[in-house]
Amino acid sequence: MTSFSVEPRSKMTAVLRGFAGLCPNCGRGRLLHRYLKPVERCGHCGEPYGHLRADDAPPWMTIFIVGHIVVPLLLSVEQSYQPPMWLHFTVWPLLALVLTLLLLPRCKGIILGLLWATGAKEAGT
Ligand SMILES: [Zn+2]
Repeated sequence: MTSFSVEPRSKMTAVLRGFAGLCPNCGRGRLLHRYLKPVERCGHCGEPYGHLRADDAPPWMTIFIVGHIVVPLLLSVEQSYQPPMWLHFTVWPLLALVLTLLLLPRCKGIILGLLWATGAKEAGT
């Protein structure tokens, strides 16, 4: 009798390592290169990641988080200080841009970590 054993993968560990941009399997190799592109294989343990497709989940997660940070701040500042409009048009888009650029690769790492931990297969197979 042949049995296949699948080693259990911790979703929380994979998410935390993905957030840090590290290989969900070993936590030492890099998960992304060129900002958002997943590596084909981990440079340390050789785990394959090139087949994982995060699709629209990382941008969606990023927009969700950035929106929940920027909009309440904007409304709070407007109600408390009523700054001039030029300040609003300068500060909030800049804050949203910086947060987006910082969070997008981390969100992609989280999604790739989850896909890896749940054993997701290549799209279309
Ligand atoms: Zn690795």
